[in-house]
Amino acid sequence: MDCVDPVRWAEDVAFMAQSRPPGSIHWQKVQDRCATELEQAGFVVQRQDYGSGINVIGTREGTAAASEVVLLAAHYDHVSGCPGADDNASGVAGALEVARVLGQAKLPRTLMVACWDEEESGLRGSRAFAQTFTGAKLAVAFNFDMIGYASAAEHSQIFPGPLAERFPGLADELTANKGRADFIAVVADASAEPFALELEAQAEGLGRLTGVMTLTDAEKLDDDAFGVLSMSDHRSFWERGFPALHVFDTGVFRNPAYHCTLGLDTPDKLDHAFATDVLKATTAAVAAAAGL
Ligand SMILES: [Zn+2]
Repeated sequence: MDCVDPVRWAEDVAFMAQSRPPGSIHWQKVQDRCATELEQAGFVVQRQDYGSGINVIGTREGTAAASEVVLLAAHYDHVSGCPGADDNASGVAGALEVARVLGQAKLPRTLMVACWDEEESGLRGSRAFAQTFTGAKLAVAFNFDMIGYASAAEHSQIFPGPLAERFPGLADELTANKGRADFIAVVADASAEPFALELEAQAEGLGRLTGVMTLTDAEKLDDDAFGVLSMSDHRSFWERGFPALHVFDTGVFRNPAYHCTLGLDTPDKLDHAFATDVLKATTAAVAAAAGL
């Protein structure tokens, strides 16, 4: 945990945070940076060309149970014309930082770290991966999508009524926290809940309030009731029955610059202390999932 370096994270965010729609020059540069940094962290890197886009996938083989895989991933594409610092330079830079830290460790299970393409075009990259993943057991997939925005202002967090009704304990905690948008949110399906609770315990050990929302198998793909919790790449894994959890800052429910709707989504608006806690807690949870 102590090896997490927020300066390296911030450098990657600063590099990536420019308009980078699929096929653009900066999209290519970000894709190349994912590949180069994963290689430097000790991963074997493949680019998965699935037709309309390209995923970057790094693999570091486990020392004892190599056929069991733990995955951490984030999408590197973004909508045209928006820098996408929080969405999702923050998550890609975060996945790369966890890769650098755990690239030093001897992990019993295989660790894969991936940068997905075309999340913004309907989760295309992660679906292409999840639909063709064979030959190994996927123990769990961690997803980062927007992990850098927080606010200590009271009542800065939106928590929609239906979610408050479904997760009353969390709603009470957020009320006691005076509606501040400074907690880590984790969404898990039932099979990934133990990994989410481990991450929560690690984050709360750092003094960072964390809210876990676990959806049952009947709820997780119920778009009418819970669609707001499955709007990122973890959904591609849920669709295939793989355990998956989503770690984020609650996105549109917190960040006014989501997709540059109210202001630009730029690096200066990010909260480094918040992101550092996300990275530390996730590093520990991924290491535990990988058998350390
Ligand atoms: Zn995103």
